[in-house]
Amino acid sequence: MISLVHSPEYAKHQNETHPENQKRLEVLMNSLRKKGLLEKLNVHQPDPASEEDILRVHTSEYLKNLKTFTEQGGGYLDFDTYASPQSYEIAKLAAGGAIKASELTLEQYNFAYSMARPPGHHATSNSAMGFCLINNLAVAIKYMMKKYAIKKFLILDIDAHYGNGTAEIFYQDPHVLYISIHQDPRTIFPGKGFVEETGNGAGEGFNINIPMTPGSRTSDYIYVLEKILEPVCNEFRADFYYLDVGFDGHKEDPLSSLLLDDNFYPWIAGHMRKITPRMTLILEGGYTNNAMAQSNLKMIKVLMDNSITERKRQAHGNHQIKDETKNIYKQITNTFSPFFTF
Ligand SMILES: [Zn+2]
Repeated sequence: MISLVHSPEYAKHQNETHPENQKRLEVLMNSLRKKGLLEKLNVHQPDPASEEDILRVHTSEYLKNLKTFTEQGGGYLDFDTYASPQSYEIAKLAAGGAIKASELTLEQYNFAYSMARPPGHHATSNSAMGFCLINNLAVAIKYMMKKYAIKKFLILDIDAHYGNGTAEIFYQDPHVLYISIHQDPRTIFPGKGFVEETGNGAGEGFNINIPMTPGSRTSDYIYVLEKILEPVCNEFRADFYYLDVGFDGHKEDPLSSLLLDDNFYPWIAGHMRKITPRMTLILEGGYTNNAMAQSNLKMIKVLMDNSITERKRQAHGNHQIKDETKNIYKQITNTFSPFFTF
């Protein structure tokens, strides 16, 4: 059983010339509609997150500035992050979408997917960044901690970029294990997300970064994730799982130099489903129209249909695993040997 959390209001955060624009969700929704999947997806509308919910993650000063900025007409908050006049309200709705999907996963569905925008994983406690205004996932986690006293959370972030905001917010928290697989930060925004960034204080060992070299393919991703995910998940024993989904690692995406194909997204959904029967999905990036819609569709189908197996062999294809990929795996096992057994 799967549910989709979505609102047409998300289109009001808008800038037609920007890659993170209102077309992204329109294309995803149209592709689900065309395939006749929308009726089967149990679509729920989100409510906006309250300021109290958001203030568990962001500073009141930042929130106030964001509100004032949008009320005055919006514009660019930094060189690549915009806010339009209604963006403050829409960002609250996107955070509310993450909350709603989390509650639906807890109470009703095996999987609930918040297909919202603006995305959130670059937003830090006191700053907008990388197209993100409010850190939707972090707001949802703090809400689930507070309202349901859930203790341990695991996040797998597969966006092409390191989710520096999410990492920072939970960097000292041993109850939130953040695993991010992304393009090597020496070659891409935000320039962070190296293996050595393992967390701090009590949170040390709970921030696992898997930086992949440009040109990495589905086979490279599967090589590393197959070795790392299951043992780490089994050892950490999370109460609640998130898949933070970005489609910008796709080979057709202009914002990364990764070469993932459509098969990666159903593979990772199927692999996570083997690890946990319940999981909340949160949309982050993805800036192609058709490739993103196709990948999204395949991913959702795996979660809808238990009979679709992992199709490991097909996903591996004939590509050789890069030496750099094998080296990254070794580096991770060495760095995390005090914390996890791989
Ligand atoms: Zn991204």
